[in-house]
Amino acid sequence: MNKINFTILLFSLIFVCRANYTAAQQPGGAITPEQRMRRDVTLLASDSLKGREAGTYSEKMASAYLSAQMGEIGLLPKGDHEGSYLSEFRMNFPVLYKKAKLKVNNIEFKHKEEFGATDLSSAADVSAPLVNVGKGQNGNNGKTDLNGKIVVIDIASGLGHESKEEVLASIISRVSSVVKQGAAGVILHNSSRKPVEDVLFGSPFTVSLDVPVVYVARLPYNKMRRLRTANCSLSVEIDRTVSKPANVIGWIDNKSALTVVIGAHYDHVGITKSRKGDDKTPQIHNGADDNASGTAALLELARWAVNNKVLKYNYIFIAFSAEEKGLFGSKAFCSLPWVNKDNIVYMLNMDMVGRLGCQGDTINILGMASSPYWDQVIAELAHPDFSIRKIKGAPAFSDHAPFLKKGIPVIYFTSGLDAEYHTPQDDTELINFKGMTEIVSYIRQFILSAETLPGVPFHKISPFQHIRAYFQTF
Ligand SMILES: [Zn+2]
Repeated sequence: MNKINFTILLFSLIFVCRANYTAAQQPGGAITPEQRMRRDVTLLASDSLKGREAGTYSEKMASAYLSAQMGEIGLLPKGDHEGSYLSEFRMNFPVLYKKAKLKVNNIEFKHKEEFGATDLSSAADVSAPLVNVGKGQNGNNGKTDLNGKIVVIDIASGLGHESKEEVLASIISRVSSVVKQGAAGVILHNSSRKPVEDVLFGSPFTVSLDVPVVYVARLPYNKMRRLRTANCSLSVEIDRTVSKPANVIGWIDNKSALTVVIGAHYDHVGITKSRKGDDKTPQIHNGADDNASGTAALLELARWAVNNKVLKYNYIFIAFSAEEKGLFGSKAFCSLPWVNKDNIVYMLNMDMVGRLGCQGDTINILGMASSPYWDQVIAELAHPDFSIRKIKGAPAFSDHAPFLKKGIPVIYFTSGLDAEYHTPQDDTELINFKGMTEIVSYIRQFILSAETLPGVPFHKISPFQHIRAYFQTF
């Protein structure tokens, strides 16, 4: 992100925060925890943050907001650079935003419906005649002059007999060959019935060739094929400016040798197709419950802990990114050498704490068997207004999992999976903020009670052990 963009971003965030803050305040009264969490969820799950996909500009907006909040709360920054809360990591997953236009003679093709810019594509804007080289296996052998032309290649041959990597390698070699002969752009199509989309789009292996490379689906290609002496204009824009996600980390230094990690992921799945229903139009997935709710709860716990004189351990508050892509943020944090069982007392995870009521008036506490003391801690807490489902295991699909792998006790709070999980309907209107406030105050009691233990011993559990009870409820 360049400096100008960052300045504009911060200004707009400050404006939005102020507006929300004012709206949430009672006339003459102080803002309550429930109002603060409503403000934080409303902002993180607003359409302007576009679903907070890791590695995108909207993730950067969310992380800038969280950094500003952590600063205001008074957490010490624990990012990569002095004074920064951001800790960047690499993600083995490409995030490219592509816009593309394809016009042959006067017919315009629809991007992402009739054609798409492949992962091999470079950004460019070219207008040139079309030349068809069939399967292009021998790269045309110099038979036709390809210099400055847009070359059409049929990628059908051999599909389905090789692995994805082999198919991709064969396509790359054919495209590279025509590019060497001067092709200004490449249009791929597939005359076979074997699907090839997963090789060309969203592949973890991105190789950028030097020209725009698009794939045209079968029916639109038939339309294109009928055009003789076709002139083509092809443009591809690629936004690769943001690709490194970042965890946002602040901490409280109580001068202890031991640290408790409290975490919640702030990323979500961005703009994508719904996993439910027939509508395949990409839509913003705001992820209010998953996991703007846990992130707001994280900030609220930090506000409480920063002023608490009783706490003796150090506390790290970490908003993870790229959880939805495969726990990349929590794995990156756990790969830091000092994050080990000798330094970390336990890890507390909050993932989806905003829908108390969606599974009856119950919250799930997972990872109970990862320390023999957890049962005792829970038993000693004042009984909350909701009921509790204790689950011994902890599934491998949220950010506590890499900690568990390192032999660190975990405890994972969630109000459970709801019907709107990973759909565009996971919105702020459905969040039970009163319930979130009750969950946060319950977790505060848990943290205080864990402080009174002589330590938190670890008990090894497999991620899939004992979680049948959890899944049986859906
Ligand atoms: Zn989640």
